Parts: sequence; structure tokens; C-alpha cells
Amino acid sequence: MAAPLLTVVIAAYNEAQAIPLLQPRLAAALDGLPGIDGRVLYVDDGSHDGTWTVLQTLVAADPRVSALRLSRNFGKEAALTAGLDRVREGAALILDADGQDPPELIGEFVRQWQAGYDNVHGTRVERDGESWIKRSTAHAFYRVIGRLSKTPIPADTGDFRLLSPRALAALRELRERHRFMKGLFGWVGFNQVAVPYHREARVAGRSSFGFWKLWNFALEGITSFSTAPLRMATYVGVMTAVLAFAFAIWVVLKALLWGDPVAGWPTMMTVILFLGGMQLVALGLIGEYLGRLYEESKQRPLYLVDAWQPGAAGVSLPASDRPAPHPGDRHAHGSSFAGVQDP
Ligand code: UDP
Ligand code: MG
Repeated sequence: MAAPLLTVVIAAYNEAQAIPLLQPRLAAALDGLPGIDGRVLYVDDGSHDGTWTVLQTLVAADPRVSALRLSRNFGKEAALTAGLDRVREGAALILDADGQDPPELIGEFVRQWQAGYDNVHGTRVERDGESWIKRSTAHAFYRVIGRLSKTPIPADTGDFRLLSPRALAALRELRERHRFMKGLFGWVGFNQVAVPYHREARVAGRSSFGFWKLWNFALEGITSFSTAPLRMATYVGVMTAVLAFAFAIWVVLKALLWGDPVAGWPTMMTVILFLGGMQLVALGLIGEYLGRLYEESKQRPLYLVDAWQPGAAGVSLPASDRPAPHPGDRHAHGSSFAGVQDP
């Protein structure tokens, strides 16, 4: 029987400095896995530095390495999707190109997989090289989304994880445009286990996730996995209406008992401004969801492929990939995975 396949999928955006440092660690980790056929698939997410050249050198040097290049920068979530779409056999393991997810842990992940777990995820117990603001906002984010979302999303868990073949096949069925991967992994379910690890600082280069990007990412997570904000708008509306009704009774009673010497301009302004603000907030909330609905309805592919360099050792991936929308990007209907095969 052939050894089980494991493909390490790495999204890389402007990581020309980090990848040459990562690859030897990765190769050593894969060499140290007896009975596992290890592969590496890099996805160049439209980098502007020499990332693609670096990847081509790696493909030429190591038969286990393949590289995929997207037509532009589609973002990490789409890049990961592109990589995972091309893993058609065996398990997949997701890793950051910057060395923050230590490849030395792959052995532990594989042991858990062989013990029967489908979704082995790395949970950070410590983070180096990141400001306390980033750490505390990240902490707060996981707590908020944990409360708002019905899908279980493990706290302090990034994309560093191993997916068994069936978890991977299930994930491939989820083709939504707004991809909050952490939530999608949780939605899939199956047997999950956490591997605690110490998250180190980047080996080179700098993070492409600034505060604005992280804020938008948080919004993406919340709107993709919860409609609680919409319901909150309803509750606030109901509460305001009840208060307004009580206030109206008071105003009428006051006018009946003590007459009505047209005053109360400050009260009126306060009420008008307050209600105006509340209405705009609620409208904005609806807009957030409506905008996402609009994007979904356009049914665009999740990414476009520019170039594909399969490794010499052969890959569990289709060898010919045209720079055209991937067939898997269409919605797969029904529960069969046949809908997401190549033609
Ligand atoms: N990345 C990507 N596309 C992007 C931004 C980032 O593929 O548009 C990759 C990046 O190369 C790295 C991973 O996603 O491998 C995590 O990015 P980063 O280290 O910037 O994020 P952080 O670790 O600071 O959250
Ligand atoms: Mg990083």
C-alpha cells in the first residue's frame, strides 16, 4: 500500500526573504516523518518581490515542491483556498510562510491525524514579536466571535492546522466569497484536537496585516458567522420604542395636568438626534450584510491562476491548470464531491 500523502499548503505574499529560511526546516520536518509521503505546495498570492523566482528555484531543487501563482493578490484566505483546492489526495497542512508556525510540529500534527483526528489545529499559548495591542485585540476578537457565532471557533487558533482527507473534501464544498477560514474550519466539524504551541516572531519581512486590515478581517468574521448584530438592531429598536411610549404618556399627562407652555426644545432635539443616529447605525448594519449578499450573488470565481509548476515527484494535483477560473469555484450541489472534480 502506498504511504499516506500529506501536502503542506503555504500562502505567500511578498515572502522572498522568509521562504528560503523556511524551506530547509520544512524539508527536514518532512524527512523526519517515517511512512508519510510529504509534499509542499506554495501559493504565490500575487507577490511584488522575487517570491515567484524563489519558488521556481525550490521547485527545480526539490521534487516534492510545487508552486502555484495567482493572477493578483487575492488575500490569504483565497490563496489558501486555491492551494487546498489542488490537494486531491491525502491530508493537507496549512502553514504560514514567515516561520511563525513551526514546521517542527508537523510530526505531532501527523500523530494526531493517525490517531483519528480530522482537524488538528495549533493553539497559541504565547506569541512573540507582536505588540500587546495586537495580542489583546486578537484575544478580545476571539471572545466576541465565540459569543456571537453558533459555529464553534476555537480561541487563539489561526490557520495552522492539519485537515484529514474527509475534512478537506467537506471544506471544498464551501464556496462562499467572503471566506473567514477559521470559521469555515469550525463549521466543517468532525473530530478536532488542539496542539498547543509557542508562536514565534516572523523570521524575515513584515506582517501584511495592519490594524485596518485586521479590523476588516474581524468584521468579515462576525458578519460571515453571525447575524446577531442584525438582531441587536431589532432589540435596540424595540427598547427605544418602549421608552418613547413611556415618554409620550408622560408628555401628555404633563400637558393635561399643568398645561402646555410650548417648551421642551432641548428634549425634542435630543430625541430627534438620538433616533437619527440609531437609524443610521441600523441602516449601516443592514448595508454590511446586503453588500456581502451582493458579492455572493455575482458568483465570481474565488481566485484566478496565473501559473502552475508541479513538482517532479508528481503531485496529488491535476497537472494541467489553465489560467482560467478553477472548475471547483462553481457551487457544488448536493452532497457528492464529484461536482468539484476537474473536467
Ligand atoms: N499572506 C497572503 N496574502 C496576503 C497576505 C498575507 O498569502 O494578502 C500570507 C503571508 O505570506 C503569510 C501569511 O499569509 O504566509 C500570514 O501573513 P502575515 O504574517 O502577514 O500575518 P500575521 O502573521 O501578522 O497575522
Ligand atoms: Mg505572520
